[in-house]
Amino acid sequence: ANPVQRKPDWLRVKLPVGKEYAQVRSLVDTHKLHTICESGNCPNMGECWGAGTATFMILGNICTRSCSFCAVATGRPKAVDTDEPNRVANSVKLMQVKHCVITSVDRDDLKDGGSIIWAETLQAIRRESPSTTLETLIPDFRGIWDNLYRVLEERPEVMSHNIETVRRLTKQVRVQAKYDRSLECLKRISEFGLRTKTGIMLGLGETEDDVLEAMDDLVANGVHILTLGQYLQPTRNHHPVVDWIHPDQFAKYKEIGMQKGLRYVESGPLVRSSYHAEKHLFDF
Ligand code: SF4
Ligand code: SF4
Repeated sequence: ANPVQRKPDWLRVKLPVGKEYAQVRSLVDTHKLHTICESGNCPNMGECWGAGTATFMILGNICTRSCSFCAVATGRPKAVDTDEPNRVANSVKLMQVKHCVITSVDRDDLKDGGSIIWAETLQAIRRESPSTTLETLIPDFRGIWDNLYRVLEERPEVMSHNIETVRRLTKQVRVQAKYDRSLECLKRISEFGLRTKTGIMLGLGETEDDVLEAMDDLVANGVHILTLGQYLQPTRNHHPVVDWIHPDQFAKYKEIGMQKGLRYVESGPLVRSSYHAEKHLFDF
């Protein structure tokens, strides 16, 4: 075994058990929904699902991209499921979700990039659960910004796009993405007037200087909320874990990020983009 792959103690988590967990599990199964919690093998399923929260993944479970860190399957996606917005909205209602996080695979095969289903899903949830706040973790829409604006028009309470890693590693880690295009996406979200959020995974081989440079770029492009978490390798075919970042280093990054002008930095080994997301609804 590769010693670097042995997880340090601070990454040990509770096993998913309990009634709440079972309820979410059965809803997700009955309604044939996809969650990034499962597709991404998220270590927080016990905690989040146990608290009645899940992050829905729309537009199928096959992605047109092949980021080297990501556990979602790559390939040719199935046809768009026009009933999906209603099914997601029904589940959000049944689960009485207070703060609903939605994400999607990237649909570079579609002209609209999936933005129509995105908008319909948000509309359906608003209709069924008007008091639920929405958080959307969106793709870069290949820089076809009309598609981005179609989703922005629905004015989710938090709009997130993950830059995932530092500039130097982007080519290696996000083959079909571009660091500057992601920055532009974030800038457009911020200028539109929405709470703007992004996430970076650590442990992919970035240096502290790389991370600080990324923070400067994010602040310069209007980002308000940053999540920093430890990268975990989903399978041996994925990007290796280069470093286990110590909790003290995460704490240091949080402090630096806040000093640089970010409004909120959620930083810790188990932090994921959607972890404690409901805490990011600061007054705007
Ligand atoms: Fe799901 Fe996000 Fe919680 Fe992970 S952190 S279990 S992806 S809601
Ligand atoms: Fe995974 Fe998103 Fe990359 Fe697709 S675009 S492979 S879902 S990280």
